[in-house]
Amino acid sequence: MSYAHKYDVVIVGSGLGGLLCGAILAKENLRVCILEKNEQIGGALQTFREGGQTHDTGIHYIGGLDKGQNLYQIFHYLGLMDRLELTRLDSDGFDNILFAGDDQVYPHGMGWDSFVERLSALFPAERDALLKYKEAVLKACGAFALYSLSPEEQYDDMELLALSAEEMIASITADAKLRAVLAGSNMLYAGVAGLTPWYTHALIINHYVESSWRCTKGGDQIARLLAREIKAHGGEIHTKTEVIAIHQEEAKAIYAETSTGEKIYADRFISNVHPAVTLDMIDGSALRPIYKERIKNLPNSVSAFVINAVMKAETTLYQNKNYYFFADDKVWDTTTSDERWPRTYGLFEAVPRHGTHLEALSIMTYMEWSEVEKWSNTEHTTLHEVSRGADYEAFKKEKGGLLLARVAERFPDLVKNIESWSASTPLTWRDYIASPGGSIYGIAKDYHDPLRTMISPNTKIRNLYMTGQNIKLHGVLGVALTALVTCSSILGRDYLIAKIKQANEASA
Ligand SMILES: Cc1cc2nc3c(=O)[nH]c(=O)nc-3n(C[C@H](O)[C@H](O)[C@H](O)COP(=O)(O)OP(=O)(O)OC[C@H]3O[C@@H](n4cnc5c(N)ncnc54)[C@H](O)[C@@H]3O)c2cc1C
Repeated sequence: MSYAHKYDVVIVGSGLGGLLCGAILAKENLRVCILEKNEQIGGALQTFREGGQTHDTGIHYIGGLDKGQNLYQIFHYLGLMDRLELTRLDSDGFDNILFAGDDQVYPHGMGWDSFVERLSALFPAERDALLKYKEAVLKACGAFALYSLSPEEQYDDMELLALSAEEMIASITADAKLRAVLAGSNMLYAGVAGLTPWYTHALIINHYVESSWRCTKGGDQIARLLAREIKAHGGEIHTKTEVIAIHQEEAKAIYAETSTGEKIYADRFISNVHPAVTLDMIDGSALRPIYKERIKNLPNSVSAFVINAVMKAETTLYQNKNYYFFADDKVWDTTTSDERWPRTYGLFEAVPRHGTHLEALSIMTYMEWSEVEKWSNTEHTTLHEVSRGADYEAFKKEKGGLLLARVAERFPDLVKNIESWSASTPLTWRDYIASPGGSIYGIAKDYHDPLRTMISPNTKIRNLYMTGQNIKLHGVLGVALTALVTCSSILGRDYLIAKIKQANEASA
């Protein structure tokens, strides 16, 4: 492996956040070097081939990509929008909420007018409540200047940050079913009663209601296009390169050390890895133990069990929509792996590569780390193909069977037409993206103490920054906004936002 004598910026991890920071900084003529431990770049954007199909892992759909919307503007600035192949989901119901024992399908329409109209048709007495819900979501989004790519400072509304998602929805409508329907896509942020802030719900729901899309050819398109942008501006990406330490002197990071003993020097370092893992990489006494303890003790969001299925040819029409199913109306209490598991699932179709029939799909539910803890000393990735043993395979088969049985209650033909399937567990997530406990969305936000769970991208080591889903917000939009926060620490926020605005105005 050959490296430059010294880079302007070394980025540890090529998840979406690392790639976005790399692309932004490379465009500013900084010499960027990204170090990725896996064979494939992208972190949760990775895809894999199985049963003749390409399967997404951590991206099933994206919001905010209509011209002029927030994610569109960021992606357009980075040169992605002309090349990204997208399929707009069904406008009449991109997300559809289902409940056991209730045949009704509750659609989330695309665009706020459609959202209100579609649900008003099913809850005629709740039209005013739906309008109130829409206003409350928009008000919350308006309080975050960066959400609309404004250079102003954010997080000034402490009262808003301390609102609970569950309580806010309950304050808007007394109709128990409508409450459940409004919270019905809370798998997008692993919503939990007594924990999840209202702003998390609002920021995420709003950008999907604005517009929802699937990556037609898989989420790894985004990673490949960002890599192309980085390389076009002279940046480098080194895969199969695990960073084991970031060495510092007098609170200044000097070089990253890889597992093969190489030393890569830079003026600045950005970690795209979970903050608890990042802190373990830093030697010396530059960071106070109390800070390390605080970050390490922050609770993480739950993990997931995901079935990736291949369909029998030409048996099932592609519907271009998502379904979220709940075993009852208690939608804020589904993340535990108790005897009632699985109490919820999300069903996400992949866009067919040929014709109109479904070729592959993902079915996702939650799974707690404790379920797989006994195999925690095994590591398996494409670079370390180590079997976790027959009992682990039997565990996946049993859990997959339970999940498919749950899906068959509502979609019997769909399950009958599955040709083959495989499953990922919390161990998969831990090994592929190095997130503690296989957490899918990283550090869990908590409305009781909102600032505690928002991490600064700046560290006590003055040239070491952090980015990615753990810092501000998860998801493609959340990680993109977080990348802007991280890069603003280097480039200046006004400057960066002005660049994005200019790029979008020039093509308006
Ligand atoms: C099952 C699942 C479904 C999801 N569905 C959606 C969805 O439909 N829509 C949506 O918007 N979001 C979705 N998300 C969330 C979204 O995928 C993530 O928020 C986002 O991709 C995280 O990006 P990140 O920058 O934090 O990096 P990560 O994806 O966490 O990547 C971190 C990278 O760092 C690398 N790394 C770790 N340690 C080292 C080391 N020591 N040396 C070098 N490299 C290292 C890892 O290999 C990895 O590539 C989903 C997530 C999951 C898990």
